Amino acid sequence: MASSAADHTVDVLVVGSGAGAMTAALAAAKAGLKTLIVEKANVYGGTSATSGGGLWITCNHLMPGVGIEDNPDDAFQYLTALTGNDVPAANVAAYARNGRRMLEWIMGNSEVQFIAMKEYADYYQHIPGARPGGRSIDPLPYDARKLGEDFHNMNMPHQQVRVLGLMGYSNIEGAVLLSKSPGWFKLLVRLAWQYFSDIPWRFRSRRSRRLTMGNALIGRLRRSLMDLDVPIWLNCPAGDLLTENGAVTGIRARRDGKDVVIHATRGVVLASGGFEHNQTLREQYLPNPTSTKWSAANPTNTGDMLVAGQKIGAATALLDEAWWGPTLVVRNEDRARALFTERSMPGAIVVNDQGKRFFNESVAYTTAVQAMYQPGNLPSYLVFDERYKRNYPFGPLLPAEMHLNWLQPGHIRRDLLKSAPTVEGLAGMIGVPSAALSGTVSRFNGFAATGKDEDYQRGENSYDLLYGDFRIKPNPCLAPLVEPPFYAVQIHPGDIGTKGGLLTNENAQVMGLDGKPIRGLYAIGNCSASVMGRYYPGAGATLGPAMTFGFLAAEHIVGTPFA
Ligand SMILES: Cc1cc2nc3c(=O)[nH]c(=O)nc-3n(C[C@H](O)[C@H](O)[C@H](O)COP(=O)(O)OP(=O)(O)OC[C@H]3O[C@@H](n4cnc5c(N)ncnc54)[C@H](O)[C@@H]3O)c2cc1C
Repeated sequence: MASSAADHTVDVLVVGSGAGAMTAALAAAKAGLKTLIVEKANVYGGTSATSGGGLWITCNHLMPGVGIEDNPDDAFQYLTALTGNDVPAANVAAYARNGRRMLEWIMGNSEVQFIAMKEYADYYQHIPGARPGGRSIDPLPYDARKLGEDFHNMNMPHQQVRVLGLMGYSNIEGAVLLSKSPGWFKLLVRLAWQYFSDIPWRFRSRRSRRLTMGNALIGRLRRSLMDLDVPIWLNCPAGDLLTENGAVTGIRARRDGKDVVIHATRGVVLASGGFEHNQTLREQYLPNPTSTKWSAANPTNTGDMLVAGQKIGAATALLDEAWWGPTLVVRNEDRARALFTERSMPGAIVVNDQGKRFFNESVAYTTAVQAMYQPGNLPSYLVFDERYKRNYPFGPLLPAEMHLNWLQPGHIRRDLLKSAPTVEGLAGMIGVPSAALSGTVSRFNGFAATGKDEDYQRGENSYDLLYGDFRIKPNPCLAPLVEPPFYAVQIHPGDIGTKGGLLTNENAQVMGLDGKPIRGLYAIGNCSASVMGRYYPGAGATLGPAMTFGFLAAEHIVGTPFA
């Protein structure tokens, strides 16, 4: 499409307002460029704001502080083993080289601060170069008052990361609560006290003033952008890209119900997320069956800029991939809940409709869905017993020991869980062969007794153990299913974002079908084809690259290294 007269002109235009978008905008603005963010939703932050907010950065400068050594050779070996031929080698190298640089820059030039998670292991411990922790980093909590009224324009945290729908906790605090590590109860009381005793703020908002996880990250980024007077236009969906002599010069958008043309003299950075909530694109590109209802990501991510890029001849890659995660659909909730921990806690197994286990339930979420999509494994069910339900949180349910059954919302009690006094009875309720399910449970109970999962080696590496219960012996990931009633819930091959998109190079420039970069056009985050290929190397492997390539896009636009 030929370019038309501009209604508004900036140097750099960023489409979308997730963590990568804000990093690109921050870096461009810091270099003195007039920068604008346009956001389709009526709130900023996208899935990033609803997320755990963790980044995965190899060789990061916080690792020595938690006593973990890393080096570029190991990092590169681990990454290349996972990305293989799926990702241009230059992109992988750019990530490995610049993740730390981005992190040091942002921590030195903005409100954004992190702490290393010592015990958050990389997801593929058997791959050489993996680390038992430290590459994943947690944003420090932030005080919502620093955002003034703009706090109310930030996307809410996902309901799955709020206790009782209200209180937030950091990733590090969440691990203590989940594993009931020493001090967990004191921590819970402290969080509750902080929330309920914050009287003046309680009159202003039900949301906690202490921002954590994705809200802390986005809050910190937003404050830093406010300090540089970078505006975010909410309710402003971008549409077609404008081009002139093969270069992108701006976009068409809608603002306040009117068409607007935004001209960008230096570059357009697409950061509009994936196509999680576009059923047509899901069916076209992802393995089937697939459903928007199975995605835990932000509902306004519908692949708009992927389509806009394709229209002007951009190349794409990895469109059949997602940041997979088994999910649970709860009635009356606008997005699915990702089951990050529930599969792994001892006393739960996953079976297919033949009543058979088919993988190590403690593997990382992407690997879990890859197993679910193998022929014969859908539908899949998570099965557990009363001991499990009493001890661990499950989806919207707190551990039953903390939350009486009758206090749970009626639709959850009625719809979510099937239950029966015997395993055979449960099999009948979910339509799987009862002898097979009963045989599977007995065999698994035998593994729990010996501590050795002879079928799938569950609990034999440090990532598996992350969501184990160390009070359970001899294997913290294996407990027998013996205490009635027994429960089952259908789980879905869902996602926390798609990860295929516009093909980019090591500078985050979008590549044309002719193999050359399209001048003026950059893509980052889930709008671009992921530098992580078909795997999920560690916690934070989506936001880490989104922010790193946001930084690199801005640096390329500016044309001089940022330090
Ligand atoms: C519960 C949960 C926890 C997670 N935890 C982590 C974690 O700890 N670490 C990690 O790395 N990943 C995590 N993820 C995944 C991660 O949040 C996403 O992969 C990441 O936020 C995607 O970033 P993005 O910038 O591509 O998209 P988003 O953050 O979703 O931002 C995209 C934005 O673009 C806007 N947009 C869409 N179309 C248009 C348009 N046409 N015009 C203008 N704006 C548009 C959207 O409204 C949205 O605000 C988690 C996800 C979930 C659901």
